[in-house]
Amino acid sequence: NDEFTHRTVKTKKVMEHFPLCASQLMEQLQANHHLRYQGRQQLSFFLKGIGLSVDEALQFWTDSFTSGGKITVDQFNKEYRYNFRHNYGLEGNRINYKPWDCRTILSKPRPSRGEYHGCPYRDYHPDKLVSTLKDMSLTQQQVNSVVESCQQQDYTIACTKVFEAVHQTTTSDLQIVHPNQYFERSRQCAT
Ligand code: SF4
Repeated sequence: NDEFTHRTVKTKKVMEHFPLCASQLMEQLQANHHLRYQGRQQLSFFLKGIGLSVDEALQFWTDSFTSGGKITVDQFNKEYRYNFRHNYGLEGNRINYKPWDCRTILSKPRPSRGEYHGCPYRDYHPDKLVSTLKDMSLTQQQVNSVVESCQQQDYTIACTKVFEAVHQTTTSDLQIVHPNQYFERSRQCAT
């Protein structure tokens, strides 16, 4: 898929279709020029899932890690490059890993301080979740409904409600179960 390059994946035009789990990882990566292991894995597989090629992915991660001036390209190549190649099945056991679905993401250890993987509907502090949802232009009623699903530990239902609110649609057949499904459906809504 030539549409997605190391440059375009971090543009608003592409990121507006990301679910919250992926957009927070991308934002933190761009702000901190680093992500810890689980976050790297989660975002790397998501980007692979949208169709980012291995060459573009390596360029994207190199740029993201080195542009802050703390990590050199040499360091990146020594410490991180293998990991990203591995995720594309080019190293080690050469398994062609599938992008993580919501169930897999929710089965991983929860993020500790300084980590940004996981599902925001489970892992955000309620205050942060509410302000994030308001920033996404959800009405108070929509926010309350999402928060209620989170309290009932129905995180994918919360995510589905946000999808419907953001896209002003109520597609009864839609149940978000995978971040890449969110992305694809969001792009379909835009066409
Ligand atoms: Fe991501 Fe799934 Fe959580 Fe939505 S429900 S934010 S797609 S992990």
